[in-house]
Amino acid sequence: MALGSARNRGMRSLSSKIFRTVLAFTLAVIVVMSLVLTGIYYFSAERDGEARLMAQARDAAAYLNDSPSDSNVEVMKDQFAGLVRFTLIDAEGNVLYDSSTPDPSALENHGDRPEIAAAEQAGTGAVTRFSDTLRTDTVYAAVLLDDGSIVRLAETRESLLSFAGSLVAPIAASLAAAVLLVLLLSRALTRRIMKPIDALDFSRPLDNDIYEEMNPLLVRIDEQQRQLKAQNEELARAESMRRDFSANVSHEMKTPLQVISGYAELMRGGLVPPEDTPKFAGLIYDESQAMRSLINDVLTLSRLDETAFEGDAAVPVDVLTVAERMASRLEALAGERAVVVSVGGVHAFMLGSETLVEEMLYNLIENGIRYNHAGGSVEVSVSEEEAAHPFAHADRGLSPQQASQMLHGQASAQAVAASQRQVVVRARDTGPGIPSDKHEKIFERFYRMEKSRSKETGGTGLGLAIVKHAVLYHNGTIEVQSEVGKGTTFVLRFPAASSR
Ligand code: ADP
Repeated sequence: MALGSARNRGMRSLSSKIFRTVLAFTLAVIVVMSLVLTGIYYFSAERDGEARLMAQARDAAAYLNDSPSDSNVEVMKDQFAGLVRFTLIDAEGNVLYDSSTPDPSALENHGDRPEIAAAEQAGTGAVTRFSDTLRTDTVYAAVLLDDGSIVRLAETRESLLSFAGSLVAPIAASLAAAVLLVLLLSRALTRRIMKPIDALDFSRPLDNDIYEEMNPLLVRIDEQQRQLKAQNEELARAESMRRDFSANVSHEMKTPLQVISGYAELMRGGLVPPEDTPKFAGLIYDESQAMRSLINDVLTLSRLDETAFEGDAAVPVDVLTVAERMASRLEALAGERAVVVSVGGVHAFMLGSETLVEEMLYNLIENGIRYNHAGGSVEVSVSEEEAAHPFAHADRGLSPQQASQMLHGQASAQAVAASQRQVVVRARDTGPGIPSDKHEKIFERFYRMEKSRSKETGGTGLGLAIVKHAVLYHNGTIEVQSEVGKGTTFVLRFPAASSR
């Protein structure tokens, strides 16, 4: 914010801007005022001069009329000597006496001079004449005497130009003083203006007590800082989640690997009796299957994280058909656990990735079978319903990153265009149920309510995390309805595809 650095970057400085503006204004004011005042002063002085000279001429005329003797003329000559030019002209215009020359007869006839002519006509005449050189002007005042002759006084004064010329130096001096003053003033002004700006606390822009003109700027800075902070927090959160996830993945991988290498070592050392070999091989097989599901789930999740599914074109997916296919794929597991799986409802279509829809339904049905009791059931129903309220993601713990991911996801554009109808999937089981304080937690990565049971049923702890992620990816919502001891229902809602 310092002026120095601004200048270094070739920017305009506030101080020079203020300086130039104030200086231009001040100079203009000084010049205009000087011209106006000079004019006023000059012309009023000229008027006064003319009047004064005329009064003197009248006095002289009165005196000469009283006693028109040569001695009086001499008195006049003395009185005006060195002060004004004194001229006596007879009725014919011949110069009888002129104080400016010892030989008046050499002067031309003055009868046609304007002030003389005016005096002959009206008794008095006053005229100001500019001399040829324009350096001076002369005021003439003529008065007609009783005997027909004329007395004339003339006074030479500076012309307007030379009067103005004599003012050039003082005006220039005051201009120079003005430049200096304006320079100092603009520096001081800039310093005063900049002081509170330099002292701005940008960490809390709105707490600054400064010019109200700066408020919009401060509000903008504040907004941007908030955004930056949110983004940073989001980044930090994502980063720590990634770290946790990697740590968890490695940890989850270690266990089956240890089991596998342990059994393999026993077999290599010949410590396993041949009749037990199938059993050990089976254990190794189970562990490697567990590792395989883990790796598959991790891959699915990281594809979802990287929005890699955006590359897939959104296609209409028949949810009922997919549900039936997943149920039959899980038939063996259901049989093993003596759980009856049934799928029913209508052929409702949603837009999205068929792979992800399969993944969601597979995980839900699988969970319904695994967290159940022998003789229990899993019922999946697909329906199309009028949306009770629009999809709201904000209150579903969706991160801004995920939200924007979804907004720009391939499914979203079509979802907006789609009707307010929803495809609703309900997966109900007769399992142990989930306590309400765990309804959110079960969707976290690697969260398992009962570690041992989940592990022994082949769970990775990632199933529901994938389901939730995939639901959000499809602009859908997921809801858990469950009471301990009474089973669980997962309700999934998606925007229905208009095309069938
Ligand atoms: P897992 O691989 O452990 O099943 P999930 O993410 O699929 O991981 O589920 C997380 C936890 O939620 C499970 O460990 C389980 O405790 C609980 N859970 C999931 N589905 C059900 C269900 N249908 N009934 C009861 N508990 C469930």
